[in-house]
Amino acid sequence: MQNKTYDIIIIGGGVVGCSIARELSKYNLKVALLEKEVELAFGVSKSNSGIIHPGTQTKAGSLKGRLCVEGNILIRKIAKELGIDFQEVGELIVAFSKDDIAKLEEIKIEAEKLGVKKMSIVDQSWLKENEPNLSKDVVGALFIPSAGIISPYRMTYDLSENAAKNGVEIFTDNEVKGIVVKKANDLEIMTTQRVLKTRYVINAAGLFADDISGMVGLDDFKITPRKGQEFLLDKKRENVVNHIIFPLPTKTSKGVLVIKTSDGNPMVGPTAQDVDDKEDLSTTDDGFKEVLSAVKQMIPSINDSDIIAYFSGLRPVAGEDFIIRHEASVPGFINVSGIQSPGLTAAPAIAKMVCSILQENGLTLIRKKDFKRYRNETTHLFKISKDKARKLIKENEGYGDIVCRCEMVSRKEIEEAIERGATTLDGVKFRTRAQAGRCHGGFCTTRILKILSEKLNVPITEITKRGKGSLIVKGKRAR
Ligand SMILES: Cc1cc2nc3c(=O)[nH]c(=O)nc-3n(C[C@H](O)[C@H](O)[C@H](O)COP(=O)(O)OP(=O)(O)OC[C@H]3O[C@@H](n4cnc5c(N)ncnc54)[C@H](O)[C@@H]3O)c2cc1C
Repeated sequence: MQNKTYDIIIIGGGVVGCSIARELSKYNLKVALLEKEVELAFGVSKSNSGIIHPGTQTKAGSLKGRLCVEGNILIRKIAKELGIDFQEVGELIVAFSKDDIAKLEEIKIEAEKLGVKKMSIVDQSWLKENEPNLSKDVVGALFIPSAGIISPYRMTYDLSENAAKNGVEIFTDNEVKGIVVKKANDLEIMTTQRVLKTRYVINAAGLFADDISGMVGLDDFKITPRKGQEFLLDKKRENVVNHIIFPLPTKTSKGVLVIKTSDGNPMVGPTAQDVDDKEDLSTTDDGFKEVLSAVKQMIPSINDSDIIAYFSGLRPVAGEDFIIRHEASVPGFINVSGIQSPGLTAAPAIAKMVCSILQENGLTLIRKKDFKRYRNETTHLFKISKDKARKLIKENEGYGDIVCRCEMVSRKEIEEAIERGATTLDGVKFRTRAQAGRCHGGFCTTRILKILSEKLNVPITEITKRGKGSLIVKGKRAR
C-alpha cells in the first residue's frame, strides 16, 4: 500500500471525471483520478446517444440548461485541440399538427432564453428537400443547427490521454471503498489497492455518486437509474437521416430519436424507464417495440431488419437538475452528481465550473507554462479516403492487415489502441470499432485476443471482455 498526497483526487473515470482531469491539468497541481473498472469510460459514458445537445429541451434557469449550452460551445475548441471527431449535424424537432407547431414555438422561446442561437421553424417543403425520408405526416419542425454528434468513449479516452500527458495520475481498477475526513481539507481515500491523501475530493462517480457522498456522511440525495435502451442500425442505412430527428419531448425524456452517430451507423432510442438496479443493462422486446413504433411515425422506412445491435444505458438521476457544489459541512469535498443527460454535452462546462468552485474554496490555480494543449488525431481507416489509406499502408503494412472486416479496422489501429491503454476486448472496441459491426466480432475476436496477449505480454487465458468476471478463453495459463 502506498500513501501519497495530492491536491485533488477525482473519483470516477467517465466523461465528466476525465473532462475535470484535463481542465485541472492546465494548472500546477498534483491530481489523481480513481476508477473502479479496469478501463476508463466503462460506466454511463459508454452507453449513450452521443449527441452534443444544443440546449433546446432543458429549462431556462436550470443548471443543466446553462452548462449544456456552454458545453456545446466549448466542445468545438476541445475537439480541435484533441483531434476528437465532432460533427455539427443539426437537429429537427418534428411536429404532426398545428398544436405541435405551437409547442415548438414554446421550446424555441425557452431555448432562446438559454442562449441557443439560429433556430427556425421549417415547413414541409424545406423538410422534403433536406430530410426526404421523413413521414409525410410531419407538417413542420424546429431546426436547431448547433446540435452535433461525437463518439462518447473516444471523447473520454482523448480527454484522459491528454490529462495524463499533462501529469494527472490515473489509477484504474481502484474502487473507492472509504473516505476518512481527518479535518478540513485533509481527506484520506481508501481504494481496493491503495490509500491516498488529498486536500480536495471531486465526486464524479456517476451512478454511484450517492454511495461516495454517503462515505463522508452526506446522504441528502439518492441516484435513481433511468434506463435508456438504444438500437443500432446497419451502416447501409447511414444516410437514412441527415439530421438528428426528435419528437416533442415527454415529461421524463427528450423522447425516442433517430440519431446519426459519429461512427456512421444510425441509432434509434432511447427509452426512459426508472429502475432500481444500478447494474441492470438488459434490453427487452417491449423496449424494442416501443422504440420501433415511435421512430416509424417519423421515419416509416426504418424496419426491424435494419437493427444489428442493441444496448442499454442508465442515466444517473438525482432529481431534476445536476448537483454540483462544494459541501460546506465537509470542507474539500465537491459533489458532481446526478449528471444525467445532457451530461456528455455539459462535461467541458462542468469541468470549468468545478475549477471555479475549487478557487472559491481556497485552491490557488496557477497555469502551467508547459501545458500540452494538443493531441495527435487517432487514425481510423473507416474515416479516411482510399488514397490516404493506400499511402498509410505503404508507410506501415500493419494498416493493410485488416482484422475487423465489418468495420475496416487494421492490426496497426488495434496495436495503437493497446499502446494508448486498452487492456480488454471492449477497450479495443470502444477505441477502434473492431467487433462493433454486423458480425459482432464473430470473425475478429480470436485475432484481437491474440494481439492483446502479445502486446500486453499476458497469457490469452487472462484477457477479459471488460474486466473481472468476463474471461473469454478457458484453459491452462500457457500461451
Ligand atoms: C441512454 C442514455 C443516453 C444519453 N444520451 C446523451 C446524449 O446524447 N448527450 C448527452 O449529453 N448526454 C447523454 N446521456 C447522459 C450522459 O451519458 C451522462 O450524463 C454522462 O455519461 C455521465 O458521465 P459521468 O462521467 O458522470 O458518469 P460515468 O461515465 O458513469 O462515470 C462515473 C465513473 O465512476 C466510476 N465509479 C463509480 N463508483 C466508483 C468507486 N467507488 N470508485 C471508483 N470509481 C467509481 C464508474 O465506474 C464510472 O466509470 C445519456 C445517458 C444515457 C443513459
